[in-house]
Amino acid sequence: MGCGFVYDELMGQHERGIFPGTVWEDLPGSWTCTNCGARKSRFTPLLLEEYLTLCMGMHLDDRR
Ligand SMILES: [Zn+2]
Repeated sequence: MGCGFVYDELMGQHERGIFPGTVWEDLPGSWTCTNCGARKSRFTPLLLEEYLTLCMGMHLDDRR
């Protein structure tokens, strides 16, 4: 299961050098989940009124 980390485009990730307002598509392909290290491809967009992207996936089985 995913770790539940949510990327908020309005917030960005200051500690990672991601400015507020950076949309998900503009994150580098090398970006990984801050919580569990899952790849960007493991995130699933939440189709809500806000543009949030939730970390979901079988992270524990994805280590290579
Ligand atoms: Zn994660």
